[in-house]
Amino acid sequence: MKDASNDTAQFAPLMAAWNTENQVHLIVGANPLAAARCAKSLEAGAKPIVIAPETVDMHFTLSEHISRGAAQWVRRGFHDDDLTSLGREEVDQVVDVVFVTLGSNHPLSTHISKLCHRLRIPVNVSDAPELCSFTLLSTYSDGPLHVGITTSGRGCKLASRLRREIAAFLPSNLGVTIDRLGAVRRRLWEEDSAAGLGDVSFEGDEDDSTGQKHTFNTLVTEDDVAAAKTRRMRWLSQICEYWPLRKLVSITDADIEAILKAYSSSRDNNVKDINGIETPSRKGKIVLAGSGPGHPDLLTRATYHAIQNADIILADKLVPAPVLDLIPRRTKVHIARKFPGNADQAQEEFLQMGLAALQEGKQVLRLKQGDPYLYGRGAEEFDFFRGEGYIPTVLPGITSAMSASLFADIPATHRGVSDQVLVCTGTGRKGAAPDPPTYVPTQTVVFLMALHRLSALVEALTTLSGDESSSSSRTLWPKETPCAIVERASCPDQRVIRSTLEHVCMAFEAAGSRPPGLLVVGASCHVLHDPQAQKWVIEEGFHGLDDLRGEAEAATTAVGETE
Ligand code: SAH
Repeated sequence: MKDASNDTAQFAPLMAAWNTENQVHLIVGANPLAAARCAKSLEAGAKPIVIAPETVDMHFTLSEHISRGAAQWVRRGFHDDDLTSLGREEVDQVVDVVFVTLGSNHPLSTHISKLCHRLRIPVNVSDAPELCSFTLLSTYSDGPLHVGITTSGRGCKLASRLRREIAAFLPSNLGVTIDRLGAVRRRLWEEDSAAGLGDVSFEGDEDDSTGQKHTFNTLVTEDDVAAAKTRRMRWLSQICEYWPLRKLVSITDADIEAILKAYSSSRDNNVKDINGIETPSRKGKIVLAGSGPGHPDLLTRATYHAIQNADIILADKLVPAPVLDLIPRRTKVHIARKFPGNADQAQEEFLQMGLAALQEGKQVLRLKQGDPYLYGRGAEEFDFFRGEGYIPTVLPGITSAMSASLFADIPATHRGVSDQVLVCTGTGRKGAAPDPPTYVPTQTVVFLMALHRLSALVEALTTLSGDESSSSSRTLWPKETPCAIVERASCPDQRVIRSTLEHVCMAFEAAGSRPPGLLVVGASCHVLHDPQAQKWVIEEGFHGLDDLRGEAEAATTAVGETE
């Protein structure tokens, strides 16, 4: 045998998927590694036999396998003739595989390895690549799919990391899809060969190692009768080859039926191309996504992808133009026609529009401002679509509640100043005024939807109303409490008014409103910028994200994103 530690770099190992059902696997040792080998053998349908003296400290999972009869224990040390006496009858009692888990320094390791090589029994010795005729792979499995990785003994930690990353890259449901497509393939093959197409081959089910034949993309003409009859098989091969995996895993049985029907009848049938699956039989999908506070760079990548892949987008009216600019031209966009007094009606209209598109099999994106579940009626929409049989995928967005203060240089928490954050609304259901929060000196409070009734809110925070005075346990906010109005946060026309509860209403009256905006209250408002003797300070504009993109990137994105 060659020295594996030197040769592994020169020669690639022959990777294979062994069928070991009912084989006898000998495991020499009883430590945790032996337990892991035993588990692998059982997973592969083999019958493990553990060889270890009675006195050994048996690993608990091994004991478990043994006590439930899945593995057998030969309670003594290893004998040479174990290799040729414990195996299956049909192979003259020779064992099928040997795992030695005693470590490379144990004299038995070398001895057993030599015997196995002589008898052509595959052998694996832990921590001793030079004594192994095979090594196990780090594996990821999803139904019939099995991915194996080896670093040729160079780094098992890295192998397991690679396995995790590959697994994360693969879409979930791939195993089910492989099963589904496999069944279709077998059915087609059976139907086509029953129809007398003797030359239809059922390639590759036993062996995944060959790629496509050179004839894979050969043009099939309408007149080529034999080829036309095998079109369905070709269609299947083509989608397996070309479709993005994520699209492949979303195929339903109904999709397949529809396509197969289209291909099954005679060649004068109106056969669709391989993209024919874009028929109404596809089930519509809905994504409910947050678009962040305004700046397009604050979209998550997930929402950006959803924008690029939607057939129709239903956007809140607060979603700003630079975000809408990212929508490809081919995509239909509706902006909510919400204005004071008709919010419920506009919402209903939107839901019905979304539903109609879903029923047509469309990919619908409901694009909401900020985060969909923070004062966005996101859960109501989720519930509606779920009730109609379409469970939305919900994508978070950066909420204005947390990011507006950040872009105004207000740390929501700050050691020794603020240790908690409260997000509330200034407007209750049907326009009612919600109860004002009690004063907590170390709290930062963010009020959304509050600026249109700013003076009533400030009044409620700082004074008790007539019917409250005697019974209320609420503490009032001191008039000197710092606060800030942040409007159009993250947009080029962002405006920040820094003041105190005493003067903020006057400042807002003087400056006029620039919606959308919110009010931040609490000592944290003056941590980084203190207006000191001034009653208020106004800061205009926001360019904080401009420098993050290189010039070239900004240019390509500007072109690419709108296409
Ligand atoms: N779901 C959204 C909030 C919807 S309620 C989110 O998570 O951000 C709408 C309120 O959000 C507005 O009245 C305003 O108070 C606030 N708001 C939204 N965008 C804003 C922005 N860019 N700057 C400041 N406030 C904003």
